[in-house]
Amino acid sequence: MAIPASIQRRGFRKWYERELLIGHSHLVLLLLSVVTIFGAMEAFAAPGGAKALMGACVLVACAIGLWALRRYLFLLTRAEFIANQAVCGQCQAYGRWAVESSRSDAAEGSYMRVCCKRCDGRWQIDW
Ligand SMILES: [Zn+2]
Repeated sequence: MAIPASIQRRGFRKWYERELLIGHSHLVLLLLSVVTIFGAMEAFAAPGGAKALMGACVLVACAIGLWALRRYLFLLTRAEFIANQAVCGQCQAYGRWAVESSRSDAAEGSYMRVCCKRCDGRWQIDW
């Protein structure tokens, strides 16, 4: 779902909370990948055992860990980028706005026009 539609449906604060939860779930996946890598390396170094299987486990865990790290950084950076623009310029209310319209254009960029629920101030949020 596109960001403006998701914010329109849930509200900014719920959307932001959800983005942080999803982002941090990727951090947990990264930590599990690191634990898997260390476990597989220890099993790889042990005498006997399936060295090819443990080597494959390390490679797969590295790939999953790198993907999780990339996704974690992307989600948190994007959420913070939008959250830094979520303060009304007139009344300084944080996150109390509704999406009026949005545009996603390669030439002009992606943005949404928002309206403050407290003072009806309007501004643009890039995403
Ligand atoms: Zn306002």
